[in-house]
Amino acid sequence: MASRSGDRPANSSYKLGTQKHGEKGGKGYEVHGIIRRASTFNTERIDHLYQDPHINGVRLFLHFGDMADSTNLIKLLYRIQPEEIYHLAAQSHVRVSFDIPEYTGDVTGLGTVRILEGVRETGLKAKFYQASSSEMYGKVHEVPQRETTPFYPRSPYGAAKVYAYWVTVNYRESYGVFSCNGILFNHESPRRGETFVTRKITRAVAHIKTGLQDKLYLGNLDAKRDWGYAKDYVEAIWLMLQRAQPEDYVIATGETHSVREFLEEAFSYVGLDWRSHVEIDPWYYRPAEVDLLVGDASKARRELNWEPKVKFKELVRLMVDADMAALKRRQQHDL
Ligand code: GDP
Repeated sequence: MASRSGDRPANSSYKLGTQKHGEKGGKGYEVHGIIRRASTFNTERIDHLYQDPHINGVRLFLHFGDMADSTNLIKLLYRIQPEEIYHLAAQSHVRVSFDIPEYTGDVTGLGTVRILEGVRETGLKAKFYQASSSEMYGKVHEVPQRETTPFYPRSPYGAAKVYAYWVTVNYRESYGVFSCNGILFNHESPRRGETFVTRKITRAVAHIKTGLQDKLYLGNLDAKRDWGYAKDYVEAIWLMLQRAQPEDYVIATGETHSVREFLEEAFSYVGLDWRSHVEIDPWYYRPAEVDLLVGDASKARRELNWEPKVKFKELVRLMVDADMAALKRRQQHDL
């Protein structure tokens, strides 16, 4: 199935519309991804999945498109006729959204209504998944946060996601579209974009351990996040679309840890002391911060029978291991 989850690049370009084939291994989908046109290659994180479309039996297809271009999106919906739509594309970097708020609103907010309008206009019976975000809780009204917790976004990104959340609910209630929100707390993996704090840390650990770098510059170390493993979360997303009725679900581990704790775990895992390497650069502070996120996924546990398999310590270690291995591969390749 579409494997990219919220493991998006900072300026993500993929929406995944899927069409079921026979059940031949995996979940048996033919997957169509949308990718922004660029004059340089930008598919590094899915290159291992990509095959030449001329080969028989290929099941992943990429199409040029853009969340800001509704004509193109509607054409693709007509052509692909997806049964399930996983709408993951966004300008998804919170800090960046303060620098480009209008673009973030356009792509992250209006992008969602463009697809929903496309589904309505084409009369497709596709099920629609909206990648909602724990950033919508922002200045939290309740700990832990659940489906009924009011939103209080603290960034242009969070505000755009709240808009997208409500249009998803609205198309369900107004037009009977099978549209649901997964409110996913931070989900990480070795494929996380390098400017998000987890990956920034694990990549720096690999470079520092290998002697290629000495310092790592970060912002607020006190922020707490509920970090889960993207692979577990993709399973939850898929389960939501297999239900008879569309509903909204919080997906989280229920544990919260500070950026400082992440540093401690990642550096000590390879025998380093983070205090000797980390410097604070206030540039990374945000005009308004989300101090604490921790989710209550009991609805998903009850109704989807979903549990996260990987928790904090294992997540940090698998990300450090992956960055160490990637660096070694690169160094061997350069020799
Ligand atoms: P977010 O939860 O979607 O904003 O995910 P990020 O990984 O971008 O940030 C998580 C937390 O780490 C936020 O509270 C940031 O303020 C904090 N943080 C501290 N230093 C950094 C940094 O250098 N880069 C990023 N991206 N976040 C940082």
